[in-house]
Amino acid sequence: MTENTNETTNFIKHIVKEDLAKEKHDQIITRFPPEPNGYLHIGHAKSIVLNFELAKEFNGKINLRFDDTNPLKEDQEFVDSIKEDIEWLGYEWTNLHFASNYFDEMYNQAVLLIKKGLAYVEDLSQEEIREYRGTLTEPGKESDSRSRSVEENLDLFEKMKNGEFANGEKVLRAKINMASPNINLRDPVIYRISHATHHNTGDTWCIYPMYSFAHPLEDAIEGVTHSICTLEFQDQRPLYDWVVENSEVEATPRQIEFARLNLTNTVLSKRKLKQLVDENLVDGWDDPRMPTISGLRRRGFTAESIKTFCREIGVAKADNLVDVRMLEHFIREDLKLKAPRTMSVLDPIKVVITNYPEGEVEWLDADVNPENPEMGMRKIPFSREIYIERNDFMEDPPKKYFRLFPGNEVRLKHAYFIKCNDVIKDEEGNVVELHCTYDPETKSGSGFTGRKVKGTLHFVEATNAVAAEFRLYNSLIEDEREGNDFLDFVNPNSLEITKGFVEPNMAEAKANDKFQFFRHGYFNVDPKHSTEDLLVFNRIVELKSSFKL
Ligand code: ATP
Ligand code: MG
Repeated sequence: MTENTNETTNFIKHIVKEDLAKEKHDQIITRFPPEPNGYLHIGHAKSIVLNFELAKEFNGKINLRFDDTNPLKEDQEFVDSIKEDIEWLGYEWTNLHFASNYFDEMYNQAVLLIKKGLAYVEDLSQEEIREYRGTLTEPGKESDSRSRSVEENLDLFEKMKNGEFANGEKVLRAKINMASPNINLRDPVIYRISHATHHNTGDTWCIYPMYSFAHPLEDAIEGVTHSICTLEFQDQRPLYDWVVENSEVEATPRQIEFARLNLTNTVLSKRKLKQLVDENLVDGWDDPRMPTISGLRRRGFTAESIKTFCREIGVAKADNLVDVRMLEHFIREDLKLKAPRTMSVLDPIKVVITNYPEGEVEWLDADVNPENPEMGMRKIPFSREIYIERNDFMEDPPKKYFRLFPGNEVRLKHAYFIKCNDVIKDEEGNVVELHCTYDPETKSGSGFTGRKVKGTLHFVEATNAVAAEFRLYNSLIEDEREGNDFLDFVNPNSLEITKGFVEPNMAEAKANDKFQFFRHGYFNVDPKHSTEDLLVFNRIVELKSSFKL
């Protein structure tokens, strides 16, 4: 594969290679099976990268399959967003499937199991079923329904299908072994009644297959060879195999489990992410603080940085926790040579250069990206009035403060040395303006060596400045907090909004354009909140991190 520069192997590739060497399959088929009950998150990206790149590397096929067997939680909005996110990541599926299109086939398979004496209709309530199930140390108890005749089971199951029972009144169970040491094999429920409208099949069905029955059948129907899932499903594998073995299907897909992605300071559960959205704690599923693919995209992460991250964290068999700063590392790496550098003032204070001619503007030369000279040069204005960062000035600084203070001289990036002479305050004593003088001899690029200054500040010329809003993010979730519910870990200060200025050449910036702002980090033009009149920038990451790979 050309795209994947990381040639590391993993245990799943190893299995695939072996299976192909033994000629178990002509071609492998993998699948990515999201349930359309939420937007995809970075954990899903790990599974997407794994499944799509496996299929590609071994010239196989990959199905995108919506696992839409639960009518209550699923929605077309989620179906659409999932497709969009996978395409944005740069992947193409071979076939698109909906598990709900297999409802007829699944029903027929359930009938076949009944006919074989391997499934029965249960009268016990959900709670009673749980009581009868036993524990890890005690075997389960067989219910009276277990000994029903095949005829009676067929009749009752058909009545379930025809809507003759209320939700929860009956279920269909696989007849396996109530004394199995694996609780999943103690006659698991495989069909339940739910009088609900389904986003795809409407009101055709009022019984729906359970995940552990539906999933192996979906895989088998599609001829999936390697069904890759996360470790929680390990204990379900014997049931997966039981379903494949006892149903009348041709293929024998193999379930392989790998460790799910866990990230520090991040929740990766659609249920919890949905709660954040539903309770308006964030600005939708694509809020730039969300670990969703759409949130990361709006924040400014590139598809390439997400994919590189997913490849680099590897595929293991044991659960682990990845530092979220590793993801940030890869976006810095990706943007370092690509993003134009520019100056922005996030919290401005005005500086008047008192010895600069009034009404005059000069255009200075600045490189677009000193690490990538091919990106060329840009022009930035300079005049009598400029903005600098409010926190680049102190009236009464401590020792070793090298930025601006009364009597001190600093360098303005790409421009001149300036010296602060006067501090203008309002009636309440707030600093509102600084009066400085510049030295024309010190122009950047002129080769001036007369004297040195220790501080370099960025600035934006005032009369040509473009107004902008900056959205600075902190972790939405803070692991360090105390609490029981995950909402206790939500950081109330995860978003800080400031208003300031950017260089005039930014006026043409478009949604999702990415820049490196001198000293402030990487920023993305927010596609949702930017308007004709106001650019809104999301900070993707700061420039530096204490994190080392
Ligand atoms: P969630 O717990 O967020 O709802 P899920 O597993 O229920 O996730 P699905 O839509 O069923 O969500 O997942 C689709 C695929 O993505 C599954 O194969 C699942 O194993 C995988 N997946 C989900 N979360 C992660 C994760 N954190 N790391 C790796 N793979 C994941
Ligand atoms: Mg799920």
